[in-house]
Amino acid sequence: MSIGLLRSICTRRPGIGSYTAACRLNSTFAIPQNSKLSWMLLPTKKPTKKSGSADIPKPTTTDLLTKAGYIHQSSAGIYTLMPMAQRVIDKIEGIIDDEMQAIGGQKLAMPNLLSPENWIKTGRWESTGDELFSFKDRKQSTLILGPTHEEEVTAIVKEMVRSFRQYPLRLYQTTRKFRDEARPRAGLLRGREFIMKDMYSFDVTREQAIETFYTVERAYRRCFGRIGVPYVVADADSGNIGGSLSKEFHFVNPSGEDTLLACQSCGYTANEERARSRCAGHSAFLATMVEGEKTRLGQRLVVVPADHEPSALKIKQAWPTQSSQRIEFTRLLANNSTGYTNAATGQLAPLVDSACDVTLPHELASALGSGSGSESEVVTGDWHVAQAGDSCAECAGGTLSAQRAIEVGHIFYLGDKYSRAMDLNVLHQGERSHVEMGCFGIGVSRILQAAAECSSSGANGGLMWPMNIAPFLAAIVPLTGQDHVPQVYQLLSGITVKGQSVFKDNIAVDDRDYLSAGFRLNDAQLLGFPITVVLGRAFASSSEVEVQLRIPGMKLEATSIAGIEIKCDGHECRALVRLDALGEFLTAALEKASSSAVAPGQTDDPLVGV
Ligand SMILES: [Zn+2]
Repeated sequence: MSIGLLRSICTRRPGIGSYTAACRLNSTFAIPQNSKLSWMLLPTKKPTKKSGSADIPKPTTTDLLTKAGYIHQSSAGIYTLMPMAQRVIDKIEGIIDDEMQAIGGQKLAMPNLLSPENWIKTGRWESTGDELFSFKDRKQSTLILGPTHEEEVTAIVKEMVRSFRQYPLRLYQTTRKFRDEARPRAGLLRGREFIMKDMYSFDVTREQAIETFYTVERAYRRCFGRIGVPYVVADADSGNIGGSLSKEFHFVNPSGEDTLLACQSCGYTANEERARSRCAGHSAFLATMVEGEKTRLGQRLVVVPADHEPSALKIKQAWPTQSSQRIEFTRLLANNSTGYTNAATGQLAPLVDSACDVTLPHELASALGSGSGSESEVVTGDWHVAQAGDSCAECAGGTLSAQRAIEVGHIFYLGDKYSRAMDLNVLHQGERSHVEMGCFGIGVSRILQAAAECSSSGANGGLMWPMNIAPFLAAIVPLTGQDHVPQVYQLLSGITVKGQSVFKDNIAVDDRDYLSAGFRLNDAQLLGFPITVVLGRAFASSSEVEVQLRIPGMKLEATSIAGIEIKCDGHECRALVRLDALGEFLTAALEKASSSAVAPGQTDDPLVGV
């Protein structure tokens, strides 16, 4: 199409927003250098044989991200984010920055090289163990590569804040973190070096800190709603005395490391290790606190529902352990009098699960001897590991079912855990107390791989990015009509959806004319751009471009959009669109997409729950 033809479109069809750009087309317009794939270090690999056949296993997401040139492994659990991946990271960080700053988050950047001094004060120098990267500098002083920054930020606030009037404070950063994982796996999902957003909140009172917790939870819901991968919020609070307020954000996916238990009746969702459930009957265990190989530090009886295991994680809240100690369980059978005697002679009260009857069954009570096992001497609580099929503890009639998930965010109300250890206090209304804290994390590089994992399965062997975090929202692939690419680029740039210029700085042009047409078309699929505009044979003959839409969660049937026929096959829809109708078509398609997927710029939260 010539500039002359575009001018005639403007004259013929004035007043339609999508055509404003076409009316302003500038024949000397140059495509920005960074939109050109020929300019980018993009080491995509040649297409291999079709996967899915019996002898070739389906590639993992790590394989796919590597093949598509997003990531490059440097060593075990350590990756370079190539330019295309960095664009995804920038978009995720942009959304996080928007939402954190909207609730008063102040961005700062703390060092990655930390002194262990404060870690010794809080006990984490000991408890973090081998996951902590530490080394000596030239003066033989020890340094840590920061895995998280509670100690550092608490030290900063302690040094700089003088009055209660300076609270509340919400400080956050997005930086690289380091963790010496024993078994790094699944690319960016469990790496030894990763990008994390961490926010730390400081409030004068507990009530204000809890209010902050829920304010941040709402901001997190907006963040994940905009990122556009369906997510669930899981209760990570075990509900025991001393349990703190904590929630996890997950993408539900069969490849996830976590198991969530969820009730379809009331929506209660929790991590399996923390979930509460109701169940019947009794099983008895002898719990032994062990240090090292052999040292026994104490024993006590644990009674949990029948066919359930006791949870060391939950029991540790009533029976605290040091990092070098662990709790081991031995199942007690009704005739195991030695086991009962051992438990009965322990100094500590039996732990009886409140999901069971509080009163011990007769055979347990009598085995423990008279005076033991009475209601006053047992510690009741939730001590069992919940399972799929258990009754929901939150509603009547609901049953828990299990699903695998990838954790992408975690928020905690910390109370005075760190402020007490490091004596960060505040004088307010004549009383001095420790400052109340919260911490709030999002795994930024993890989201990149988790989003690829959740969105790309079955997508014709390529990636498929949600629109708001795609490296480019659209790609132009000129197999013919190279001279017209600047006009097509300008036309796309001018399209607005709900008043937003969604394509601005968001279009890639595959001008790598040294590659075959097939290779470039395959790359557009592999790289996972939501919209691909192909200038092919139809463009040369009738000024029609082929538009390919690959948008996760978008439900388009084979139908017509803006009067143009659209054909869908699985995750992909295609249409032949005359250039003069491209703006109207894409505007309508993206508006339609916003009813089923998250549209560019959308801040609503339509995808909570599964
Ligand atoms: Zn329920």
